[in-house]
Amino acid sequence: MPDRNAVAAFQELLCRIAHGSDAAAATGRSPRIMALCGAGLSAASGLATFRGSTAALWHTHDPMTLATPEAFAADPGLVWRFYAYRRHSALAAKPNAGHYALAALARSLPHNSFLCLTQNVDGLSARAGHPRESLRALHGSLFDMRCVGSSRKGHSCCNYAVEDNFTEPLVPALATASEGVDETAAMTANGKPLPLPHIPVNELPQCPNCKSLLRPGVVWFGEALDGRMLQSVDQWVAAGKVDLMLVIGTSAKVYPAAGYIEAARRAGAVVVVVNAEAESQQGLAALRPTDFAFEGSAADLLPVLLEPLIGKLEKPRAEE
Ligand SMILES: [Zn+2]
Repeated sequence: MPDRNAVAAFQELLCRIAHGSDAAAATGRSPRIMALCGAGLSAASGLATFRGSTAALWHTHDPMTLATPEAFAADPGLVWRFYAYRRHSALAAKPNAGHYALAALARSLPHNSFLCLTQNVDGLSARAGHPRESLRALHGSLFDMRCVGSSRKGHSCCNYAVEDNFTEPLVPALATASEGVDETAAMTANGKPLPLPHIPVNELPQCPNCKSLLRPGVVWFGEALDGRMLQSVDQWVAAGKVDLMLVIGTSAKVYPAAGYIEAARRAGAVVVVVNAEAESQQGLAALRPTDFAFEGSAADLLPVLLEPLIGKLEKPRAEE
């Protein structure tokens, strides 16, 4: 049994899958590689995780109480302020070498050979140039928006949606939040939080078609993931043998994301775990003898692990 963290053994496997004597190449079919990414992928970009430290999020509100459809219905201005602040934080961060390595992997493989699922809403994979057709943002994106307008008399339901809108501020009323100012920090009196000034609905982002409110295109607590997206992932997995399953920066405990690891395994995949605790006793216990585990930062490890296919990663000038 090779060492679980042997870089050379992994690279050899990767080459065999992509263009060597193994599986895919030998039978003339395209290689099939899947990835599941979590917060650890963006850690090197300096983004605070949603449930972890609240240092970079609002001080006075528990994000769990704002990221719900009920919170948006009760006070869309408050929720939009929170998301304008989060959009700014994500835009202030830069994609790291892990994002670029995965984007390069997508470009290096034949069409439909790589499917990258991400639980991150930070838009960093898109900004690293990851081709959209091979990327599935399971929990949506801070930079997507969609209309909340439902059916009205004589009109069908408005399905307006927009992706990768990086505009700041989205509307003048969100200008302060869009400058990265934690408005709640200033709004305290004698240590107690004060309510923020109300933003009228007509000053919030509006649907260009029906003038209803737009909402952030993220999946909130209590909401289901996008059914069509999940269906497309299931179809991809079911289409044949999966050669490799990369599990990056996630403990993969949340379903349905976690279920994809098992699905890929059933489809024949070798599982490769890349995260800060990959080589812990608990991490290794979940693996099979042929799987790999690399402990450390995805930003450091992915460019090295994937180098046989993507070459030496050059740092893009725009992000230096
Ligand atoms: Zn609309």
